[in-house]
Amino acid sequence: MSDLKKNWAGNIEYQATAVYAPRSISELQELVRQSSRLRVLGSRHSFNHIADTTAVHISLGNLPPKIDISVAEQTVTVHGNIKYGDLCLVLDAEGYALHNLASLPHISVAGAIATATHGSGINNGNLATAVTALTIIDAEGEIRTLSRQSVGDDFDGMVVHLGSLGVIVEVTLSIQPTFNMRQFVYKDLSFERVLANFDDAMSASYSVSLFTDWQGDTVNQLWLKERVDGEVAPPAQSLLGGQLAKRPYHPLAEVSAESCTAQMGEVGSWFERLPHFKMEFTPSFGDELQSEYFVSIEHAVPALTALNKISAQVGEQLFISEIRMVAADNFWLSPCYQQTCVAFHFTWKPNWQEVRKILPLIERALIPFYVRPHWGKLFMLSPQIIRASYPKMVDFKSLTTQFDPSGKFRNRFINSYIS
Ligand SMILES: Cc1cc2nc3c(=O)[nH]c(=O)nc-3n(C[C@H](O)[C@H](O)[C@H](O)COP(=O)(O)OP(=O)(O)OC[C@H]3O[C@@H](n4cnc5c(N)ncnc54)[C@H](O)[C@@H]3O)c2cc1C
Repeated sequence: MSDLKKNWAGNIEYQATAVYAPRSISELQELVRQSSRLRVLGSRHSFNHIADTTAVHISLGNLPPKIDISVAEQTVTVHGNIKYGDLCLVLDAEGYALHNLASLPHISVAGAIATATHGSGINNGNLATAVTALTIIDAEGEIRTLSRQSVGDDFDGMVVHLGSLGVIVEVTLSIQPTFNMRQFVYKDLSFERVLANFDDAMSASYSVSLFTDWQGDTVNQLWLKERVDGEVAPPAQSLLGGQLAKRPYHPLAEVSAESCTAQMGEVGSWFERLPHFKMEFTPSFGDELQSEYFVSIEHAVPALTALNKISAQVGEQLFISEIRMVAADNFWLSPCYQQTCVAFHFTWKPNWQEVRKILPLIERALIPFYVRPHWGKLFMLSPQIIRASYPKMVDFKSLTTQFDPSGKFRNRFINSYIS
């Protein structure tokens, strides 16, 4: 269990006194009943203390696997701990797909929906928007199945759960027939032209990502992920001043693209194009920290302009930034609650003491645009600002009290931001 003592990035050493990995649901229920406080570990890809605890950690890694496809319902029910990469292989082999994926396939389903993890696409909601039902073990150790049919609109409060309603043992996700995609990269786009055509650029395909280091007057790369549903036109040779790449690129141009999913228009399955990184490789840069901030699409251009003004201060600790779109949803604690958002992501060098000085600059630049941070990444915004930015925060708090009256699933992070 020694690998469970830190998060993926290694910047958080968990404070847990013990890690238990039950082998059956009944053993898990008993563990929950007997523990006064606990927190569940997913695949440990969050960069902050959201998963941490000074009490007991539970890993679901030893529970029997489950992948049940319902053809009639067009859903798949999985155990919460499954990684998207493993699920996608089975789904695709059976002729099915999910609507979207994050930049990496290595994360667990329950952990991803906990933090409103997302991919990109102006019409694509975050990964939690595929959830149609959850099976949880509540603070009493009882099994509860939650769906819109069983709990009504409160379901919107339960899906982006921050790990604080109970142990998510099963998740049911909407599926659709499998589809093919292809991916193109454009290099060195004009920043001015991207600004002037932002909505069009981000709607240019099923999923679009901009990568920038905020230096100079160009945007380093635009990744365009296109559905291939029939005949496809040849790609444009240039876009917003950028040129179609003639070789595969990593978001950091100097790093080998070996770890990246196939580019240059090579057609492949949805799950081999939607993530940027292949399952068998370390995603992203590896030794890094991450932050991400969401603002409503209506503020995208002024927010971009404001960030560009502080590019000199941001540049030194930055590996790369990624700009994505996430469609609006109705989840109470989703940063995209009732607003389609632009998400500004920052992959940082692993120097927290320096990065922590830069985050307040970014946050000050984005506060006028009602910024919300990614729940699983690093931010410095005050709990007061965060609590005030979620209109359904009070309702979520009462949901946690209803599911977990003694605060068994709470930790310091939840006590700060959810109150
Ligand atoms: C390299 C890298 C790339 C990333 N790319 C993206 C991206 O493209 N888009 C994006 O939005 N985010 C991205 N992230 C962030 C990541 O998706 C989130 O941090 C996500 O929460 C990670 O899921 P996890 O399973 O690792 O959760 P963990 O970090 O292990 O846990 C997150 C929360 O979920 C809770 N939890 C986990 N499993 C359960 C369960 N079964 N029951 C109850 N609670 C549970 C934990 O207690 C904790 O509160 C990236 C992270 C890394 C390291």
